[in-house]
Amino acid sequence: MNNFNFMCKIYGVRGSYPIAPTNGTKIGGNTTCFMARTPEHIVIFDAGSGIIPLGRELVPEIVEYQEKHNKPFHITILFTHTHIDHILGLPFFAPIYMPQVHLHLIGPPTVGVDFEQILRMQVLPQYFPLTMDEFRSQKSFHNVSENTFIYFDDNLSQPQIGDIRIDSPDPEGFCIHTMKYYFHPKDGCYLYRIEWNNKKVIFATDIEGYKGGDQRLAKFAENADILIHDAQYTEEQYHKFCGYGHSSFVMACETARQAAVKKLLLFHHDPNNSDEELYKIEKGAKKLFSETELAKEGWEWTL
Ligand SMILES: [Zn+2]
Ligand SMILES: [Zn+2]
Repeated sequence: MNNFNFMCKIYGVRGSYPIAPTNGTKIGGNTTCFMARTPEHIVIFDAGSGIIPLGRELVPEIVEYQEKHNKPFHITILFTHTHIDHILGLPFFAPIYMPQVHLHLIGPPTVGVDFEQILRMQVLPQYFPLTMDEFRSQKSFHNVSENTFIYFDDNLSQPQIGDIRIDSPDPEGFCIHTMKYYFHPKDGCYLYRIEWNNKKVIFATDIEGYKGGDQRLAKFAENADILIHDAQYTEEQYHKFCGYGHSSFVMACETARQAAVKKLLLFHHDPNNSDEELYKIEKGAKKLFSETELAKEGWEWTL
């Protein structure tokens, strides 16, 4: 029995590639993965290597559900984009092998290729021993667009896909809004606003800030409870990697301030930055926006 109404948890915090430093890391070595859920509905954001431990955690719950209900266990996975650090864990996600699971995979088409096709290409025989159809779970694929919102109806276990031009979301329900971000190579990235019972959490990874702040994002994230924002670089590093599609912690703080969020989590840590370096980033960021902390694996917000 779940003892929460709503929960957010981080399973992967790194950008680019997973790391396992010889002296360990307290912050985490897995690439991006974040989960937001109610007792009934599970939504995972990105399938970096962090989705592998998350999958292991879900297996007992899936088995128990199946014994009681004898109907599919639905899991929604939303992708910000399909760069390798955001998809590499999917073939190793234990529930993808379970026939009682129905995965709803939702993400952006990229440079004219449909989202489903991109995920299928990741497991071509040249790269992986199983193809997408050989994983035993049921799967549905959807392209995401700027007009899409995803919501859950309490009487239905599957996610519902709405069009913001036609449908109006229930402000108290469990719902996810999208925003396309253009400044990430080569075809941008999607940001997500998770809403539940008037609480708001923003997942904004793989974005590079704009001079003077980002007004679109500040509006999208306005008064959010939590803003998870790309903060891959120190200021010095940013000057070397300007245009690579990631932010400095200063940019993350500026957006947090403009959006008047309650908490900022610095995310998508550079794999070259040691824990020591990251704690320095956190210290610098706290001076600019006091309610800031580093995103760490295992970080949890429960309501
Ligand atoms: Zn990334
Ligand atoms: Zn990326």
